[in-house]
Amino acid sequence: MPGESYRLGDLNGSYKSDTSLTEKKGQNGDKMYISTAKAFILAFLAIAVAVGVGIIVHFAGGRTLECNCGFPSTASPSGGSGGSTAALEQCKDWASEGIAYICNECSQPSQAPCPTSAPVTTSRPVVTTTRDNVITTSTQGMTTTAPKIDVRIPLDLNPLLYTVELQPDMYAPLQPANFTFAGKIKILFNCRQSTNQITLHSKKLTYDGNFTVFHPNDINDDSKNMYSSHSFDMERQFLIVHTKDTLAAGENYTLEISSFHGPLLPDLAGLYLSSYTRNGATVHIATTQMQPTDARKTFPCMDEPAVKAEFDVTLVRKSHMISISNMPIISNQTRDGDWVADHFETTPKMSTYLLAFIICDFDYIEQTTENNIQYRAFSRPEALSQANYSLEVGVDILNYFEKYFNISYPLPKQDMIAVPDFSAGAMENWGLIVYRETAMLYEKGVSSEGNKQRVAVVVSHELAHQWFGNLVTPSWWDDLWLNEGFASYVEYMGVDNHHPEWRMFEQFVVEDLQDVFDFDGLISSHPVYVPVSHPDEINEIFDRISYAKGASIIRMMRFFLGDDTFQRGLSNYLSSRAFGAAFHDDLWFALGNQSIADGNAIQNVKEVMDTWTLQMNYPTVHVKHMQKGQVTLTQSRYLQDPDAKDPGKYTSPFGYKWKIPFTFTTSNMPEFNVKSNDVIMMNELTHSVSNPSIPQPGTGNWVLGNPMQYGYYRVNYDEGNWINLIRQLESNHSVIPPINRAQIINDAWSLAKSGDLDMSIALQSINYLGNEEDYIPWSAATGQLAFVSSMLARHPLFGAFSHFMRNKTQKIFDDLTMNNTDASHLESYMRSTISGLACEYDIDQCKTESTRLFAEWMGNPEKNPIDPGLKSTVYCTAIAEGGIEEWEFALNQYRTANVAAEKSRLLSALSCSKETWILSRYLNMAIDENEIRRQDSVSVIVYISRNTIGRSLAWDFFREQWDFLLTDYGAGSFGFSNLIGGITSSFNTMPHYNELKDFMESKTDLGSGARAFDQALEKTQSNIRWMNANVPVIATWLKDMGF
Ligand SMILES: [Zn+2]
Repeated sequence: MPGESYRLGDLNGSYKSDTSLTEKKGQNGDKMYISTAKAFILAFLAIAVAVGVGIIVHFAGGRTLECNCGFPSTASPSGGSGGSTAALEQCKDWASEGIAYICNECSQPSQAPCPTSAPVTTSRPVVTTTRDNVITTSTQGMTTTAPKIDVRIPLDLNPLLYTVELQPDMYAPLQPANFTFAGKIKILFNCRQSTNQITLHSKKLTYDGNFTVFHPNDINDDSKNMYSSHSFDMERQFLIVHTKDTLAAGENYTLEISSFHGPLLPDLAGLYLSSYTRNGATVHIATTQMQPTDARKTFPCMDEPAVKAEFDVTLVRKSHMISISNMPIISNQTRDGDWVADHFETTPKMSTYLLAFIICDFDYIEQTTENNIQYRAFSRPEALSQANYSLEVGVDILNYFEKYFNISYPLPKQDMIAVPDFSAGAMENWGLIVYRETAMLYEKGVSSEGNKQRVAVVVSHELAHQWFGNLVTPSWWDDLWLNEGFASYVEYMGVDNHHPEWRMFEQFVVEDLQDVFDFDGLISSHPVYVPVSHPDEINEIFDRISYAKGASIIRMMRFFLGDDTFQRGLSNYLSSRAFGAAFHDDLWFALGNQSIADGNAIQNVKEVMDTWTLQMNYPTVHVKHMQKGQVTLTQSRYLQDPDAKDPGKYTSPFGYKWKIPFTFTTSNMPEFNVKSNDVIMMNELTHSVSNPSIPQPGTGNWVLGNPMQYGYYRVNYDEGNWINLIRQLESNHSVIPPINRAQIINDAWSLAKSGDLDMSIALQSINYLGNEEDYIPWSAATGQLAFVSSMLARHPLFGAFSHFMRNKTQKIFDDLTMNNTDASHLESYMRSTISGLACEYDIDQCKTESTRLFAEWMGNPEKNPIDPGLKSTVYCTAIAEGGIEEWEFALNQYRTANVAAEKSRLLSALSCSKETWILSRYLNMAIDENEIRRQDSVSVIVYISRNTIGRSLAWDFFREQWDFLLTDYGAGSFGFSNLIGGITSSFNTMPHYNELKDFMESKTDLGSGARAFDQALEKTQSNIRWMNANVPVIATWLKDMGF
């Protein structure tokens, strides 16, 4: 999905904001999750391994399967065993469908009895088929604390076809509080394992119709109805249908429920209510967000990603509305009372979380792709002209991905729709991608270049998912990164193809890699592949690790494999797993085999990549340059706070040692265009490199590790080498490309943060910025400087720091001015960055010009004279400098704006006021749905917390409103982690630490924010440490430099 909420682009985590940045058992309490017959199958599988049938199974703790459950001497009590061959085939079948974890059910220590329920450990086995001559070295030493409860659904039945009808009622004379939807469903199952109950997921649904269960041969004979009763396991969100007789393995059955209901609420989950105003009247629409676990809130289903089926959908609407779903409409039927039922073509085999059902009154525009796929863009009628850009980009990128993956887009149509209320940035539902308006709508002259890039990036991300995630789906949410990491990397390829002048791959380094380094440098981070079970845990991992770290290690892999091997391997992976599910090893094998076929140096992809996915954090490579022709490399784990106490949630199977594809260049022969054959594979803690290009250590001579920063690691040097790199920046920075200038700044500051480098070196690394005209290094620097600013904001040193910042910014600000007319994309980015700094650090011309432009707009509200690229700075500055009049003008503009990007910008600017009472008023508005859309509440509170004056207000407000916030945002909401991380990010004193700790200890349930709280505590500790260690150094340095 679409992280789609806070990043400059896409869902969830410590994202940057849109604008600036962004056993209780059921009645079947003794139900066995693994039956005796399954145990038999598993035991047989173990033997199959031994005789080399071709399936290798390894388990948590690195143990090879030792299943002592034994063969049942007779058929299982429930009646089905099926014979050994059938059992093996069945197990292979499950494994091939990605239901690998069933093979773990027997992974208890030797002599242990057969488990009677799924083990509570969330460690999953690696079940892989050995292919060709790739060596499997699967080791899974990861351990985690147990999940809250095991919530996995029994797999006795496999759904083949759902026939589902839904009818939302959101029309007068009903009031919104009474809106509901009605549904009915028929599910055709194949029985894999004899059972007398059918378990489905169901959440917040009420059942008032008849239940029937039939064998297809008996469907017209009521006396053969096998239904007995049904019950609920509320904690697991199960609906359990009990049958009179046993359903037999190998047979098909149909469960039909003639009527169920659910409330239609504006809760952004499952089938929910959204609304907007047209001509003064409220229009209600119904839309969906299923990922990760809310399809079950819409209709009863087996709501796990690997449990794929086909769907026949019927949506019933009033005649003045339209309906849209994943597939095209094939027929409709008029019903009583002005109702129309639209019947959709049957979907291909797909996951429940990718379904989408929408009933609205929107209009659309359309184009056709090169392969004759109909591509439509829907929006509110008033905003339809803003959909042209995303449609143009979407069609072009879809054409590109079809060629790149060498697999045709698999559905007959692709729709995109911008809905007014949406929790994430967008959602990749197959054939019907849903966006929040800021991620799809673009209006030239109103929206900025940043808004435009966000639209292109999110469109590209969601289209990438049509293959990564939709066609091939991770077996379980623990491999979410397979979805999100790939989409987050491939999105850059799609946009780069459409806009090569945007330098997307250079932007990647600052937007994703360096951004996630910060998050992944914490001991409360998590591995990319992360065991999860409960929906709260699933929601938690829609974060920067799954997205940006996933993308960064994929970029590293593309580099060391080479473009051609990467592309062919991906295409093989996708085509071999199409319409099915995959485990990450499937990807490693596809790429590894391709690497062997292509004769590459690095062939065992899994062996390398496991070190990046199965353990958290990342290494620093220390380059020791002692003599001509030689350097010594040493790797160590980077932690922002080396004293942080490991909570022990994850154990590394590799002792925090990585297989690092190291590269370097030198001042002797600067060559940054490195290729895969330049890679030095660093498998050990230390490694010696001899190369004649390495100069004599000394004045002016330097070595630089990680050219183009392809590798996911930091580089540290001895002080002399750092000084020589800094001198190179000061004398002629163009010798080093923008990415590595950005890297030097980012590494120096981060290593200073962790205590691995003197802060004075970090400060010197930005001393050349007065001559830097490229956006990429400035972007890296502003990230670091924003941190320093937030730390010093209330410290006496802030004055001298501001002086320094003005000094570095003034010349470039004077050169660039605030005239952004006809600026190119990155020039506009640069001007936006510099003017933002100029106004923030009190350069008079910036503040005067901003106040003047805003006043001109207030004088003639119909004509906004401010260039879109400068609006954020101008609005914020004028509101900060002004009073209630300016603030209310902006609020009014927010209320009436028709372009979502403009609304979003104003929402951010309203938090810039320096009046405490205005900020308090704004905080209260943030949770009033009549004022601020629910999707934006979290952003508003975080914006206010970033204002030095608003910081403590937001923290007090958060604590006062905790119960409300937890209820409304804390369970399964992607924004909750962002809220916690956002409002605590600048905590840097012991009182802050104690307040945070006391607050956490006073609450029994932290909802989906548990991890974010741990991270906030660690960050606060790290900030305190930073203040103690660095404030004196900064004070001395600034003084010495004359500030
Ligand atoms: Zn996504």
